[in-house]
Amino acid sequence: MDVNDSVDAHARDTMLAGAGHNCSDAVRYLTSRAPIAVRWLQQQGVNFDRQGRRLLLGHEGGHRCARIVHAGGDASGLALLQALTDAARHAPHIHWHPPAVLEALLLRGGRVAGVRLLGHSGPHQDIDCAELVLATGGCGALFAATTNPAGADGNGLALAQAAGAALRDMEMLQFHPTALDVPASGRLPLITEALRGAGAILVDDDGQRIMQALHPAGDLAPRDLVARHVWQYRQAGKRVWLDATLLKGDWIQHFPTVAAQCAQHGIDPRQQRIPITPAVHFHMGGIATDLDGRSSLHGLYAVGEVAGNGVHGANRLASNSLLEGVVFGCRLGRRLSYMQLQLPGSGSEQWIDRGVSADTDALMRLRTLSWQSMGPIRSRKNMRAAQLHLLADAGISESWQGRLIERMLRAALKRQHSLGAHYLLND
Ligand SMILES: Cc1cc2nc3c(=O)[nH]c(=O)nc-3n(C[C@H](O)[C@H](O)[C@H](O)COP(=O)(O)OP(=O)(O)OC[C@H]3O[C@@H](n4cnc5c(N)ncnc54)[C@H](O)[C@@H]3O)c2cc1C
Repeated sequence: MDVNDSVDAHARDTMLAGAGHNCSDAVRYLTSRAPIAVRWLQQQGVNFDRQGRRLLLGHEGGHRCARIVHAGGDASGLALLQALTDAARHAPHIHWHPPAVLEALLLRGGRVAGVRLLGHSGPHQDIDCAELVLATGGCGALFAATTNPAGADGNGLALAQAAGAALRDMEMLQFHPTALDVPASGRLPLITEALRGAGAILVDDDGQRIMQALHPAGDLAPRDLVARHVWQYRQAGKRVWLDATLLKGDWIQHFPTVAAQCAQHGIDPRQQRIPITPAVHFHMGGIATDLDGRSSLHGLYAVGEVAGNGVHGANRLASNSLLEGVVFGCRLGRRLSYMQLQLPGSGSEQWIDRGVSADTDALMRLRTLSWQSMGPIRSRKNMRAAQLHLLADAGISESWQGRLIERMLRAALKRQHSLGAHYLLND
C-alpha cells in the first residue's frame, strides 16, 4: 500500500517469519492479492484509518516496514466483521440460517454430503450439501493461556479429524508475547503489537529494556522470539511489563481496546506499566488444503484459521491472518461459484461426530497440561510425560478435545528439531 513497499518485500517477511516452512505459492498469492483485498474491503464498507487522505500504515513484529492498515485503531477485526456481515446480509444469493452449531457431518459414498446443525432452540436439523466449507477458526481455547475466545476450541478441526481429513502442521502454534497478565479462567486480553510499533517497550521489574540486546528489531522482533524471552523471564519467577507511558500524544484514541481492557483491571497505561504474559494466539496448522481450500476429503473445504494451506509456515507474520481469510476466502468463493454444484448421489451413509466432550473439570486439566507441555519452549521429556498423563486421565483421553491435543503432542514429538514457533530444548 506504500510506494516504498513491494509484494516481494511482504513475501520475504512472511517467509522469514514462517522459517521457510511456508508454501511459497500460497505466500506469493497472498502477498500479491493483499492490495486488492484492502480495496475490496473498502468497497464492502470497511473504513480503514487515515492520516489526511492517505491510509495510515502501522508497523508490527517481523515486518521490515510499516505496511498494516487498521480500522478503528486496534479494533480491525470487529470493523471487518461488521462490514462483511452487513454486506452479506444484503447479498441476495446468501441465505442466512439462524445461529446454530455444526454437530456432525454426513458422509455418503465417502464424500461429505450433509451437516447436522443444533439450533439454540428446537431439535437438530439435517441439511444436504453439495460442497461444505468449514471456517470454524482456531483452537487456542484448548490452552490455559490464550488470547482466543472460548469458541475457538478446535471443534471444526476435531470434526474433520474424525471424518478422516488430512491435517497438517498440528504442532505449529503461535504465541503472542503480550497478553495482559491478569487472573482469568478463559481468554486473556490481548495487548496489541501495534502498541510496540508505536514505541512502547518491554521492560523487566527494574524497568530495564529486555529486547534491545536480543535482536536488531528490538521490541519488534518476531513474535516467537519475544514470546520465548518473556516466557523465560516468567519461568525464572520474574514479571515482564509493557511500558507505554512514554508514548506521545493521545495514543489512547488509537488503541481504545487496550485502554478499555486495562481500565477493566484498574490499570491506566498512560501512567502505569502493563503486566504481560505470552499466550497461545494462532494455529498455523489445521485441515490440510490446497490454495483453493480443498481438503483431502471429497466435498470438504476449509478456509481461515481452521485451514492449513501452508501460507504461514512455522510462524505467522503479524496481521497476515485476517488478510488470509479475505484473500483465500474470496478465491474459494470464486471457485465454488464457477462449479456446477450437485448434491452427491447414492452410496453408503455414515454420520460422523466429534465424540464425547470433556466436562468442565477435565477441560481445565487439559488446558493446563497442553499449555505446560506445548508452550513457547518445549521439551521432549515434558511432552512425553504429558502424553502419559493424558492417557491415564479418562476424562481427558476419551474426549474429542483430548484426542486433538494428543494429535498435536504426537506431531510435536515427531518433529526432531526446532522450527519457527516450535522451539525444542535439547533434552
Ligand atoms: C485477540 C485477537 C486479536 C487478533 N488480531 C489480529 C489482527 O490484528 N490481525 C490479524 O490478521 N489477525 C488477528 N487475529 C487473528 C485472527 O483474528 C484470526 O486468525 C481470524 O479471526 C480467524 O478467522 P476465521 O474466520 O478463520 O475464524 P474466527 O474468526 O474464529 O471465526 C470462526 C467462527 O466459527 C464459529 N464456530 C466455531 N465452531 C462452530 C461450530 N461447530 N458451529 C458453528 N459455528 C462455529 C465461531 O463461533 C466463530 O464465529 C487476532 C486474534 C485474536 C484472538
